[in-house]
Amino acid sequence: MQPSLEKLRKFFRLEHENKYQNTAIIGGLAKMLDYWEGEARADGITEEVIQAVVSRLRSYEKLSPDGRAESLKGLWKRIAETYPEAGQKPKQAHPPRPQQQRPSAPPQESKPEDSESAPHPAEQSQPQQYQQRPRQNPPPRSETVAGAKHSQTPAALNAKLTVLQGVGPKNAESLEKLGMQTLGDMLYYFPRRYEDYSQLKPIQALMYNDVVTVLGTIQSVHNRPIRGGKQSIIEVIIGDGTGSLRISFFNQPWLMNRFKDGDAISVSGKIDQYLGRLVMNSPDWEPVEVENLHTNRIVPIYSLTERITQNWLRKQMNQVITYSAPAVVDALPDTIKRAAQLVSLGEALTQVHFPDSQARLKLARERLGFDEIFYLQMGVLRQKRDWKSVEGRRFPVSDEWLGARLGALPFTLTSAQQTSLADIRADLDSGKPMNRLVQGDVGSGKTVVAALAAAMVIHGGAQAAIMAPTAILAEQHYRNFINLLTGDGGTLQQSDIRLLVGNTTESEKEAIRQGLMDGSVKIVIGTHAVIEPDVLFKDLQFVVIDEQHRFGVEQRAELRSKGTNPHLLVMTATPIPRSLALTVFGDLDISVIDVMPEGRQPITTYVLRPQERERAYTLLRAQIKNGNQAFIVYPLIDESEKIDARAAVDDFDTLSKEVFPDLKLGLLHGRMKPSEKDEVMLNFRDKKFDILVSTTVIEVGVDVPNSTVMLIEGADRFGLAQLHQLRGRVGRGSVQSTCLLIPTHEDATENERLQAMAVTNSGFELADLDLKLRGPGEFLGTRQAGYATTLKMASITDVKLIEKAREQAQALFERDPELNQPEHALLAEAFERFWGGGKGDVS
Ligand code: ADP
Ligand code: MG
Repeated sequence: MQPSLEKLRKFFRLEHENKYQNTAIIGGLAKMLDYWEGEARADGITEEVIQAVVSRLRSYEKLSPDGRAESLKGLWKRIAETYPEAGQKPKQAHPPRPQQQRPSAPPQESKPEDSESAPHPAEQSQPQQYQQRPRQNPPPRSETVAGAKHSQTPAALNAKLTVLQGVGPKNAESLEKLGMQTLGDMLYYFPRRYEDYSQLKPIQALMYNDVVTVLGTIQSVHNRPIRGGKQSIIEVIIGDGTGSLRISFFNQPWLMNRFKDGDAISVSGKIDQYLGRLVMNSPDWEPVEVENLHTNRIVPIYSLTERITQNWLRKQMNQVITYSAPAVVDALPDTIKRAAQLVSLGEALTQVHFPDSQARLKLARERLGFDEIFYLQMGVLRQKRDWKSVEGRRFPVSDEWLGARLGALPFTLTSAQQTSLADIRADLDSGKPMNRLVQGDVGSGKTVVAALAAAMVIHGGAQAAIMAPTAILAEQHYRNFINLLTGDGGTLQQSDIRLLVGNTTESEKEAIRQGLMDGSVKIVIGTHAVIEPDVLFKDLQFVVIDEQHRFGVEQRAELRSKGTNPHLLVMTATPIPRSLALTVFGDLDISVIDVMPEGRQPITTYVLRPQERERAYTLLRAQIKNGNQAFIVYPLIDESEKIDARAAVDDFDTLSKEVFPDLKLGLLHGRMKPSEKDEVMLNFRDKKFDILVSTTVIEVGVDVPNSTVMLIEGADRFGLAQLHQLRGRVGRGSVQSTCLLIPTHEDATENERLQAMAVTNSGFELADLDLKLRGPGEFLGTRQAGYATTLKMASITDVKLIEKAREQAQALFERDPELNQPEHALLAEAFERFWGGGKGDVS
């Protein structure tokens, strides 16, 4: 039964015992409505029932004691119509009443004979032990919360863990490994998951596969040797008056001394079947007189480390939650809490560890998640403001000038490219530094947009730098820029644009450095080599970072620092789900290129079983016969890296000697020198190989339009975004292309991710799914996931929550951006704590 109904029942019973004097609650029964309504809603009680309770209790005071008795009885009947469990007849016999031994049991327990005679609601209910969920002691209820606030200062949350009973230096050390040093840390050490044991059931009503808690008394205990005495099973029979249940414990002979006939215990676990009878194997159990934390409720499961057991940690948590959670200072202003319909922080912390119901757990998680997004948003907003507070040089261009550039292109821009370019053009003429992310699926044509933007800046007399993650890509961009910006209709000379990569000769590097310093080199395109300290610019005003997820925050800052507030354009092929864009990239303006250039054929993707590899080879062979090329991609370089997956180097031999002896195969992997990699890649582009056997180093941006088929081995080992990126290497020409995915094991064929690849070509859909399946840390790559990984509670996929928090943060930011107002003092502190002096650059 829901805790709020349970509570009603408790007070109704008390009222009955007080002879309906309206004294069960100080100030009258109606007083409980102050908090009950909210709790009932949190429990998911229907509005009708809530209204019935409210109206009866409101008028309760005016009635005579007899009238009151009638009223409560009628009300309980009404409740039982909607919640039959509140109205069930008691079962015949009463097993021992464990609650009476519990410190937290309500003081007024009805005696069995009561239920025969008294006209109070409890008469219609089940015996206590089936529904009364033991409370922690003391219950973390609103009543206690208010009182505790005075007795504890927030400073107590900084107390070392050794202040806890039962935590010595050794245990404190273990807890520190889990990231807990203070009581406050413990409050925020959230359960990894929960086990819902709140469904107490009489044995008679148990069903196969139920996950339940059963209370009963021990009827017999036996130790039965098995497997020739090498192992043993302890079998315990418990009964609760409605039936008996067999419990088995394997190989825990010491338990023999713990079970005594007649003892009451509670067991929690899954109901199994053995020889046609219901049994429970190795359940969580405990004697019921012990404070009942581990069973009968929604039980938190924490991540552990050595020397720490689940039960022990739970007990400590209970101590901390009970005494510290109510003392937590809630920094969020009431106005925001009300507007966003959030529970208090104390309630949230209490319920997230020891939930009274799924509904209250949900509210708790929502509150805690809100906080994270809210603080994240506040930070992002500040950064955006700081960014926009400085001047940016203006680079206006006329329509004629732009028209001439567009006319000189070998193709017409797609509508999405045009929009992005318009965004950029406006940024460049805004007087504020541009801080824009251009996001477009692989092959959507981001490069030309960047090139035209660079041309605008050069036109205004300044310099541009383009940084790509690999030499191959930098070289590709270099050729593209030359094609797009020089020659007929172009405004630049070839010598204005230079390529600077790791293996550029020293003398050439020196010439480029010189040219950048005196301004004769207008655009430099390169790898990390571009951000080396000795590369200095005369007047750098535009910075482009391609495939931005490959770079760390620092590298971006490094490049930016080579100019004075230069305009920044970052480009990514990783489709960023809306929710993520709103939070982590919130300080960037975003342009999306969501239209593909005309004539592209969607890639057809198949998931094959490992046994079907031959079929894949046949398909490759057919494509190559048509003059096309193929990729075979592996998750690993060689077997020694990890067991169990096929590896590029190992298979390369077999492939080239046995499978495709008549074809030319190239091998590419990350342990090769950059120059070797480039050579292989160039050879492949120049059709010197039919098949490129590779690890994921080909993932990024490389354009070989003649390749039309990609076979990905060990496909289940890749993330969706990565698979999609890989797949994007084919399908760049006008020929129908194919992607074949072969998982490591047959049973991964049904893998949700792989199937999704076969179903959609949309990078956005895949990104959303990927984010849901893997979380932001892996999705973004740890290097730059940054603040998204500080979200412990909020799901980055919960767009609704994100928007709610964002709205509130925005509104607050407009009112008091520095959080200077006295009523925001607590918030300012909490904000500082959240950001903890972190780096200044979110994106
Ligand atoms: P990505 O967005 O993955 O970086 P690229 O900029 O490398 O994509 O473009 C992929 C290919 O599409 C290139 O060969 C480019 O020349 C071509 N392309 C770009 N825009 C268009 C367009 N509007 N029409 C036709 N082809 C285009
Ligand atoms: Mg690209």
